[in-house]
Amino acid sequence: MNTDHPENNAHINPTRLGYQSRFQFKCHPGVSCFTQCCRGIQIILTPYDIIRLKRRLALPSDEFLAIYTEPHLLEKTDLPMVTLKHLDDGQESCAFVRDKGCIVYEDRPTACRYYPLGVGTLQHKEGADDDGFFFFINEPHCKGFDESQEWTVADWRQDQGVDERDAVNAEWTDLVVRKRSFPVNIKLTDQAKQMFFMVSYNLDQFRRFVFESTFLQRMPVDDATREQLKTDDVALLKFGVNWLKNLLFKQKDPLP
Ligand code: SF4
Ligand code: SF4
Repeated sequence: MNTDHPENNAHINPTRLGYQSRFQFKCHPGVSCFTQCCRGIQIILTPYDIIRLKRRLALPSDEFLAIYTEPHLLEKTDLPMVTLKHLDDGQESCAFVRDKGCIVYEDRPTACRYYPLGVGTLQHKEGADDDGFFFFINEPHCKGFDESQEWTVADWRQDQGVDERDAVNAEWTDLVVRKRSFPVNIKLTDQAKQMFFMVSYNLDQFRRFVFESTFLQRMPVDDATREQLKTDDVALLKFGVNWLKNLLFKQKDPLP
């Protein structure tokens, strides 16, 4: 089992890579550095990362957030984000790393999947740079570059399941990128930030908000959608992000 990890800005190789850029890399339990990259790191979680992890751990989203994450503000956006908590082991290890590797490997976060690549710009469906913008995170301890397996960036993304995750997160990423393009003096209200946090990270709370308040009287949906939103987290996330865009960008007040 290999173990990948996210952006650690300490040793960025500034070479700009596109989807067809080539590199040599392989990570496997035989490397001398195995699991080192899962310590001393900051892993930003996307909404879909949380859906996958909370499902794997059979936890409601608020419990997952309380046990495994720390809140922050995302630079240049004034938007809340969450990172994985570290263990208190003197090495700032990820809570999910063990000697044999990652215990949530099949559901590991997007940032872990990208490694050894970092993302130069958030992918954004409108006006995205067609050739992408990636770079190497060259940490001295990482021996994966000494291996002979060849990849293009596009192949790596597909192999690691990044494409699927980016597709689910696309509208949310679009929202974050749009907010980042706002002048810095335009601030969100605390209420707007709370709504963003709830939809993005605490989906089970958002579901209660939708079904246990007057929300659906203010924002009616058809019966099929209503049934789907009761159980389908991905559908609820997409519904919530569209509602948030209305709230944040169209200056309406769709709040019940
Ligand atoms: S989630 Fe898994 S792959 Fe990512 S840093 Fe933690 S242990 Fe490593
Ligand atoms: S440091 Fe590099 S080679 Fe070593 S386990 Fe992490 S990703 Fe794999």
